[in-house]
Amino acid sequence: MTALSTRTYGTDASATTIPHQPVGARKSWRRIVTAVDPDRRDAYALSGPWLDADAAYALTVGTLIMSCDVYTGHREIALHRVGPEGLEQIKTWTLKKPLGRAVLNFTARRITVTSETALRLDEPPPRPNLYPGRCRRCRRAVAAGAGLVTGHQGARQTEHPGECPPPAAVITPNRFGGACKTCDMWVEAESGVAVRITAPDAHKSEYAPRHVSPCPPDADPGPRSRRPGWCRDCGEYTAPGQGWLFNGELHHRGPCPPTTHDGQAWTVPVRYWMGRWHPGQVVHAQVDLRYGGEFPHSDTPGLRVLSPTYVEFAAAVLDVVDTGLDRRSARIRAATGDEAAPLLARQALAALDARPSASTFKSRLIVKRTTPHGLELRMRFDTLGRHRPWLAEITGRDPDYRWQREFLTADIDWRHADKKGRGLLYCWTLACDRVYQMHHLDAGGDRQVRSYLRSTPDGDIVRITAEEVHAWLNSAPAWPDH
Ligand SMILES: [Zn+2]
Ligand SMILES: [Zn+2]
Ligand SMILES: [Zn+2]
Repeated sequence: MTALSTRTYGTDASATTIPHQPVGARKSWRRIVTAVDPDRRDAYALSGPWLDADAAYALTVGTLIMSCDVYTGHREIALHRVGPEGLEQIKTWTLKKPLGRAVLNFTARRITVTSETALRLDEPPPRPNLYPGRCRRCRRAVAAGAGLVTGHQGARQTEHPGECPPPAAVITPNRFGGACKTCDMWVEAESGVAVRITAPDAHKSEYAPRHVSPCPPDADPGPRSRRPGWCRDCGEYTAPGQGWLFNGELHHRGPCPPTTHDGQAWTVPVRYWMGRWHPGQVVHAQVDLRYGGEFPHSDTPGLRVLSPTYVEFAAAVLDVVDTGLDRRSARIRAATGDEAAPLLARQALAALDARPSASTFKSRLIVKRTTPHGLELRMRFDTLGRHRPWLAEITGRDPDYRWQREFLTADIDWRHADKKGRGLLYCWTLACDRVYQMHHLDAGGDRQVRSYLRSTPDGDIVRITAEEVHAWLNSAPAWPDH
């Protein structure tokens, strides 16, 4: 075995040099073993920090170190323990295959130090940088081979050899976009130069972007937009790269194109529950006026005021864009009477069904499942992990969360459940003539299910559609006692 230099550190720490890689080994590794996972195989079962061969570390006495040297056809495994006087070899194995169960079990039984950081005592000698990087002192680029890689506080970092060179007056091209120092128009990253605007200082010189002179006459005042959207000036669609941004607002580059729609238009987010809208489609739109847009004309088909800043009406989709991160927005206009007719007819049908029933608490008492407070919904659920089923009464519409909800407390029956929460019996009480939303995991436990429910005067709890929920909410204010 390799000669090891060891010096005692205090009573329980020892300066230990890690065995070097023997001649002929194709591959080697050394690491501290603080735990062995019985559910994993080979070296994947081991935990603990990696160690560099020939390097010196301060290690707690008793720490286990495993080394592995791979030769053609076999591998040599050795298990060591950090002793007060040196690294003590416990056992060696010559294996044809990766680490087997016997080695892992043997190692697991000998772990006494279960947490150890490999604190390196020697600084590795600097070597030329093989890859371009940034100097750790001056943060400037260092080309491959022009600097040194040093181990600094455990991490390998690139730096200039010796003193950092004085900062350049002009860097070509500019790394970051910004307003041009000369004309104040926007310089895209890497399209111009960066000029030093402070006195030369190796550590904190500041740079500002500038166009390569002369400044182009058609430069935009803000950065180029990479996403589609609608122009703040003319309201028309703007393709990716065709607009510039200022304070999050999109503008056409150059003069705005002729308009394709005049009259009122609104921009609305297309949420996942609305489906995929497409241009020309007539939709039942809810518009949040807090984010802009005028109040619709009073003769807009299907207009209903949900709150002073939240309205719904029949609308036609003008265009839809992806605004990134799986989000979509649409520009809509008010639908004409003809366009809105089929949609309004469907709503009228749903409204017919959404009428208060003659039954009240008293009449519902004749129903078997009725409690003094209403209908009881009993459902068995598997509540896995952090998923808990919930039931909420829908009391109105909300621009941010779609519905205003009041969550009901459930009586939970644990008697038939297991430790993980499978088979819990949830019990909620539903009142008549109200609409509810229920959320739970599906039977497989891997999909979240949301559905709308309503209790009927006959003592049933029935599943309804979102359109029916709207109809119930629209007619509810007209009812007494609601
Ligand atoms: Zn430097
Ligand atoms: Zn300029
Ligand atoms: Zn425009």
